[in-house]
Amino acid sequence: MTRILIAEDEPRIVRFLAKGLQAQGYVTACAADGRQALDLALTGEFDLLLLDLGLPGLDGLDVLAALRRRAVRLPVIVLTARGSTEDVVTGLDAGANDYVRKPFRLAELLARIRSQLRPEHRAEEFVLRNGDLSLDLRTRQARAGGRTVDLSAREFALAEMFLRHPGQVLSREQLLSHVWGYDFDPGSNVVEVYVRYLRNKIGADRIATVRGAGYRLVRRLEG
Ligand code: CA
Repeated sequence: MTRILIAEDEPRIVRFLAKGLQAQGYVTACAADGRQALDLALTGEFDLLLLDLGLPGLDGLDVLAALRRRAVRLPVIVLTARGSTEDVVTGLDAGANDYVRKPFRLAELLARIRSQLRPEHRAEEFVLRNGDLSLDLRTRQARAGGRTVDLSAREFALAEMFLRHPGQVLSREQLLSHVWGYDFDPGSNVVEVYVRYLRNKIGADRIATVRGAGYRLVRRLEG
């Protein structure tokens, strides 16, 4: 069981992260200030720390420095505000393993998390398949019906979400938060639009509409 500590003081982002990570099977705990974040990180009970830099009490960078001073090797992914290159450099210098800029997409953050986790915790599959539909997560190449399909980054993230949950109904809200992030207008029809793009590219019958509930990848046998 992989345990992730979320050090973030903005309740909306904490909820988004906790919900998204738990849906992937991670166990989460939250710290809303730097002091608590450091105390929890030092318990040794966590496999990874998501660290907001602007924390009350003790700044994120101070938390990071305190951990590294104590030779704690816990992987740390820093969450930074958009465009603050200085924060990124400072964070990496202070011993962060990686960083994600806000606002971020859950899909991107999950990929960063997976790459930081120790191999025994990593349930990494490099190629996701459903029948003759496949996505190679390393080369970002998609294949459907025996041919290569050119997908945009968003289409790929959407296809990945479907392939990770074959046969399961995914709501518009789940797809929106996973592929577009928490800053996206929930009234937007972007999910419908991208499902249509994806159907045009991989075959309309692969993604079923479940009226009033969302969309579902139609399970197929190996083909
Ligand atoms: Ca903050």
